[in-house]
Amino acid sequence: MKYDMKSMKAEEFINDGEIRETVAYAREHKNDKELIDSILEKAELRKGLSHREASVLLACDDEETVRRIYDLAEQIKKDFYGNRIVLFAPLYLSNYCVNGCLYCPYHLKNKHIPRKKLTQEEVKAEVIALQDMGHKRLAIEAGEDPVNNPIEYILDCIKTIYSIKHKNGAIRRVNVNIAATTVENYRKLRDAGIGTYILFQETYNKKNYEILHPTGPKHDYDYHTEAMDRAMEGGIDDVGLGVLFGLDNYEYEFAGLLMHAEHLEAVHGVGPHTISVPRVKHADDIDPNDFDNSLSDEMFCKIAACIRIAVPYTGMIISTRETQEVREKIIRLGVSQISGGSRTSVGGYTEKERPHDTEQFDVSDNRTLDEVVNWLMRNDYIPSFCTACYREGRTGDRFMSLCKSGQIQNCCHPNALMTLKEFLLDYASEDTREIGEKMIEKEIDNIGKDKVKDIVRERLVKIEQGDRDFRF
Ligand code: SAM
Repeated sequence: MKYDMKSMKAEEFINDGEIRETVAYAREHKNDKELIDSILEKAELRKGLSHREASVLLACDDEETVRRIYDLAEQIKKDFYGNRIVLFAPLYLSNYCVNGCLYCPYHLKNKHIPRKKLTQEEVKAEVIALQDMGHKRLAIEAGEDPVNNPIEYILDCIKTIYSIKHKNGAIRRVNVNIAATTVENYRKLRDAGIGTYILFQETYNKKNYEILHPTGPKHDYDYHTEAMDRAMEGGIDDVGLGVLFGLDNYEYEFAGLLMHAEHLEAVHGVGPHTISVPRVKHADDIDPNDFDNSLSDEMFCKIAACIRIAVPYTGMIISTRETQEVREKIIRLGVSQISGGSRTSVGGYTEKERPHDTEQFDVSDNRTLDEVVNWLMRNDYIPSFCTACYREGRTGDRFMSLCKSGQIQNCCHPNALMTLKEFLLDYASEDTREIGEKMIEKEIDNIGKDKVKDIVRERLVKIEQGDRDFRF
């Protein structure tokens, strides 16, 4: 097998030999000052880096250079994403699963957790609870089970979710995180109006992948790894990659992840819309210590910074698997989306107390959405509930070219302020509202064009009068 970025075969575009050579090259050159300077100079152009270049930066442990990497990541984040952080919540539809993933409590052999699948009535109740928190964007999650969770079930749920308009609430974008499937099914998801199709690779190391997925359809590494190509063939413009850090050596995963991004860009002309960086967590019968590749918070943050530099146009997502403390550090280095107020159990949002029986993993950040919004603003981030790009058809390469030209700022910043205003009026606590109003007032001045400023001011008044859902 030789490395070929444009190949449609998993083992050629995620090539084990190339990854191993990359890791060895990076370790060998981690103190090569001249090379590192030239990589950082290239990175400063904000056009990204290759997996090899980025791997050298990740390996470098010279304190001064690491500081430069962090500063650059922070600056790139500011240039492309401003100080906005988009908020979302996961919605677990079903924990029925026929796979044997060793790190996931939903694995088939786990007989002591209750299996649940939401009815459409229950989906409705969960969505109302999520709307009452203020969420506008969801990521739906389900185990893989062709009998209990066929594609028709997922499609029914999406339809239900989009149909519910409770008080001023609405879910305006449904992202989907379900197992690898066929082009035909991806087409159905596209037709149902999904936002991003998200699928975590878990690990790029084929040998280890097969050990970690001993049984079930997910065992097939090639089918799983080629899923994003099928999704794009099925017409889904925005796909989200991710690695479950802790399962394998992080240097290997980092190179694989970037090679996957390079492959999508080379073949489809558009890279991944998002990259997620989950870490293995404790859950029911899962002990993260059973996987001896856990990584320090420092290294985790460095990975995020290097991803930010390597793929500046790709959003980065961090979930409530991480603590408030880690989230605070990592957001600065390049994260653009976070979940808030999450429950990772099937039917969790309608329960008063956070239920544990069907939880997929322990949540480390247990704050409410209002608390997360409040905290973001106290740290000078604008919480954004914007879903405009996808609803205005700015997906795939159209989104990427706007992003690359910097034009996206002219939409995102005002949209963030208008959706924050909706949140403040409809869902926020008094304290959050007070901080938020001040933030909006201050941030209006950062809108570049006077005409846009005037329109935003007019719309903010209209939102106060009861109108909703303005967008650029
Ligand atoms: N079932 C779908 C699949 O096979 O891709 C996706 C949905 S699954 C509910 C979402 C993700 O949760 C998985 O892709 C995995 O990376 C992550 N996950 C599973 N067990 C976990 C654990 N113990 N800690 C952290 N994340 C976990």
